[in-house]
Amino acid sequence: MSNKYSIPANTELTNEAVKALRADFPILNQQVNDHDLVYLDSGATSHNPLQVLDAEREYYLYNNSAVHRGAHTLAVEATDAFEDARATVASFIGARENELVWTSNATEALNLIAYSFGNASQGLGGEAARQFALTEGDEIVTTELEHHANIIPWQILAQRTGATLKHIPLHEDGTIDYEAAEKVVTERTKILAFTHVSNVLGAITDVDFMVKLARKVGAFAVLDACQSVPHMPVDVKALDVDFAAFSAHKMLAPTGMGALYGKNELLEAMPAFLTGGSMITKVTMTEAQWMPAPIKFEAGTQRISQAVAWAEAVRYLQYIGMENVHAWESKLGARLAEGVSSVEGVRLLGPAAGTERAGMAAIHVDGVHPHDVGQLLDTQGIAVRVGHHCAQPLHRALGITASTRASAYIYNTTDDVDRFIEALGGVRAYFG
Ligand code: PLP
Repeated sequence: MSNKYSIPANTELTNEAVKALRADFPILNQQVNDHDLVYLDSGATSHNPLQVLDAEREYYLYNNSAVHRGAHTLAVEATDAFEDARATVASFIGARENELVWTSNATEALNLIAYSFGNASQGLGGEAARQFALTEGDEIVTTELEHHANIIPWQILAQRTGATLKHIPLHEDGTIDYEAAEKVVTERTKILAFTHVSNVLGAITDVDFMVKLARKVGAFAVLDACQSVPHMPVDVKALDVDFAAFSAHKMLAPTGMGALYGKNELLEAMPAFLTGGSMITKVTMTEAQWMPAPIKFEAGTQRISQAVAWAEAVRYLQYIGMENVHAWESKLGARLAEGVSSVEGVRLLGPAAGTERAGMAAIHVDGVHPHDVGQLLDTQGIAVRVGHHCAQPLHRALGITASTRASAYIYNTTDDVDRFIEALGGVRAYFG
């Protein structure tokens, strides 16, 4: 198996190891605007290694078929591949197979919870679902630094049920004010939804604190794990969250695929979200009965090739070792934070350089709009994210409307970080 990969298993990531591993990512080996590409936008989406692309291609070449139905050989092979993939992705986060629902992305996973709870609030799902029902005066709590995907579904749920949506405020640097959190969360709080790693700041949330807060008042703890599962070891059982959402495309796998983790007893009791074919046991012209979780949440033909590819991406990350991934990205994050802090007229957002952060850094450049920063960097082959990164409330709290974000992954070297810092040094002079 090891000759399938460009580096030995469980290799500590260094520049040398990463340079070898980049052979698996041909997309990185190209020139953009006459410069070697520096891709620092993995927080938005990551690249698929050859192993993942091959797995998807092989599925289509030899096994393609509809799953969970049909008695023919290809249908059985496709079903096995699909369910094996579920087991692989579930075990990657410490979950059981019946606790992982396939969705189209993390956004859909968070919407699934909100819509299902909304359905329970309208009486769907019977007695078992009553624990999810919200009424006027109940509270949903999130934080001000969330991605819109972890804000808007809760706004709609509040509107559907009469519940109140509250948020935990931030410190001046944009990190969560835990002291304030203790006051915002009350006996009426039914849901506490928060991100594990901020997609803008790279700040890492104290999940233990937040889960304990939720437990104290009997609220459900919902974790947005989009920016953590791809980058660090995550064990949902150890974290003891009730739900977690994450996306395949941020962890070396294709777009169009995400997952919702939910404790099995909760998924079993929750009302269905989307309905139709594949998720039922019995249908009459007046009613239907659902399959057990997680299938009851998977209406219609599923993303089989993406699931197969995602499992291959998980094997790729496991082969490197998530501790190694996290250690390398922490180094890159620290180098990014230190580097940008040394550039005149550049403000590092979020945790100060020298404190813990994920492998990313967002910045504000004095007097230059982030779109101009991004375009100038692109002329030098450097890809970063500009805008509000789907976190308008966070930017508002920071007193800005947009920022520039560099986000690294396993295939970035310290040279990539240095090229970015060097180019950043010329931005203000260029725009004069
Ligand atoms: N939450 C966080 C923290 C994210 O970074 C993202 C994507 O950027 C999302 C949610 C939404 O992910 P997706 O667009 O894959 O649904």
